Amino acid sequence: MRKPIALVTRIDEASEQEWRALLADQLPDENILCFRDMNGGQRKSAEIAIVADPNPAQVAELPGLAWIQSLWAGVERLVAELGAGAPPIVRLVDPELSRVMAEAVLAWTLYLHRDMPIYRRQQQDRVWEQQPYRHPSRYTVGILGLGALGMASAHRLKQAGFVVKGWSRSPKETSGVESFTGDDGLNAVLGGSDLVVCLMPLTDETRGLLDSRRFAAMMEGAALINFARGAIVVDADLIASLDAGHLSHAVLDVFHEEPLPAASPFWHHPKVTVLPHISAPTDQHTAAAIVAANIRAYRTTGELPQTVDIERGY
Ligand code: NAP
Repeated sequence: MRKPIALVTRIDEASEQEWRALLADQLPDENILCFRDMNGGQRKSAEIAIVADPNPAQVAELPGLAWIQSLWAGVERLVAELGAGAPPIVRLVDPELSRVMAEAVLAWTLYLHRDMPIYRRQQQDRVWEQQPYRHPSRYTVGILGLGALGMASAHRLKQAGFVVKGWSRSPKETSGVESFTGDDGLNAVLGGSDLVVCLMPLTDETRGLLDSRRFAAMMEGAALINFARGAIVVDADLIASLDAGHLSHAVLDVFHEEPLPAASPFWHHPKVTVLPHISAPTDQHTAAAIVAANIRAYRTTGELPQTVDIERGY
């Protein structure tokens, strides 16, 4: 009998059971147990944990873990809570998640490019006024973060005819997407884009990165989409830049605190579109298949898929 696999989550019990059933379907030879159903011996012997926002105290009760598979793509909380001594962490990298994010980036890019916030305001004020049309080849989108999600989004925007620039830690070679790195590269992307899309992980380096200095570096009238993590943006600085008329609009899917508190000024800000963290929901079926493939490969070869670099934080 194989050592059990622990499913450790702080999601609601019904969702946890759904995940367990899907994973069990994909891995019929494995014994996948929710943490609360495991006895002391099973907790001691578990070699793999599948987690979604786990209680770190529960992970600490699994001393034999060789690795941890996250069901989520963003792992900043996991890395922070489990600390430096944690077993290797594998995050979710799912082409379907990338496709869904790229679709959302295209949708909200078109929302801004085709002036929908302006037409909505004009309708409210009974104003009949045609905004000038700009061909996408004269509209530049700068993507901060050219990873699994950023790269898929860049390609989708290219297909739609937009000019795309990207900023990442390491240079990228990908046809039709101009790649930038470093501080100068960031300023070049910010200063050369009609729209900036944030798709970076939240790390010590990216926390508060988009502040008044960075907004000032953006073009007059540029817009921002944040589909990554709320804490990358300094909220007060963003509101000041929108109020000053420097930035034209922000589409925000992620916030410092979620759900967004009722008192947040974002709710009623005329230049902000609030989304309830919906840009790229996980597809449980494709995610379970990917997790299962990772586990099967590990059982066969003893090798792990690419793991999170704890020092870098992603
Ligand atoms: P990823 O594959 O790890 O890509 C991260 C990208 O950011 C990489 O290109 C990386 O550069 C770049 N980067 C990281 N730190 C940087 C820094 N200090 N300076 C410059 N570039 C930096 O991550 P992903 O799968 O695309 O996901 C990105 C984030 O999206 C996740 O961390 C998560 O927070 C968020 N997310 C949001 C939703 C939603 O529904 N809103 C859903 C899923 C994920 P290198 O390529 O050089 O390493």
